[in-house]
Amino acid sequence: MVEIKTDAALDAMREAGRVVAQALEAARGAAAVGVTLHELDEAARTVLREAGADSPFLGYRPQFAPTPFPAVICTSVNDAIVHGIPDGYRLRDGDLLSVDCGAVVDGWAGDAAVSFTVGTPRPADERLIEATRRALEAGIAAAVVGARLGDVGHAIGSVGRTAGYGIPADFGGHGIGRRMHEDPPVPNEGRPGRGFPLRHGLVIAIEPMFLAGGSDAYVTDDDGWTLRTANGGRAAHSEHTVAITEDGPRALTLP
Ligand code: MG
Ligand code: MG
Repeated sequence: MVEIKTDAALDAMREAGRVVAQALEAARGAAAVGVTLHELDEAARTVLREAGADSPFLGYRPQFAPTPFPAVICTSVNDAIVHGIPDGYRLRDGDLLSVDCGAVVDGWAGDAAVSFTVGTPRPADERLIEATRRALEAGIAAAVVGARLGDVGHAIGSVGRTAGYGIPADFGGHGIGRRMHEDPPVPNEGRPGRGFPLRHGLVIAIEPMFLAGGSDAYVTDDDGWTLRTANGGRAAHSEHTVAITEDGPRALTLP
């Protein structure tokens, strides 16, 4: 069931989104060659703790997962697409890192992700990351009252396909509110004019994830969480929580 939020709820979700943005900035600021993924998780935990926010990631166990998620961020390195678990891996020069973070403040959730390179960037990685950012912007721009979810997916998917990237079919955005994952699902490809109609008060997480090399195929690690490209190519992921309003789309997880 899709829950339409009141304007007061949208303002409350903005507060959660602010904390998410701060936690992502802290993780990104801590990321450097030689730093462990655990340390990035610690940086994000500190922000959540100081803001009095809970983590919707920590202890989360969706149907596909064999174990509860053990951290407040996902850290997906190089060929990892999403859901990577922070561990003792030390970042290396040229790594492509995607960090995904959530926060719950006063019962309302926010969810956002960012990809960036550590140390010396590879041009191909910069293009891949930039494409997910452009797709996110296009998806947000399409999230207007009167449009449909297919328009959002079409906007995202067109950017990725035009650039020659793969798009995994089974993972994408979602409604968000009191729970991190709510209806409706927000696929990263779609048919214009089709799907759930967008109206004031609907809040969705929009999250393009693109795979270099053009294949859509992915595999799941033995940990049951980490999704990886099947061909070993790199992946990037960008996400914002976005409210559809009569005044236009409102990205709630901007800094
Ligand atoms: Mg996320
Ligand atoms: Mg999400």
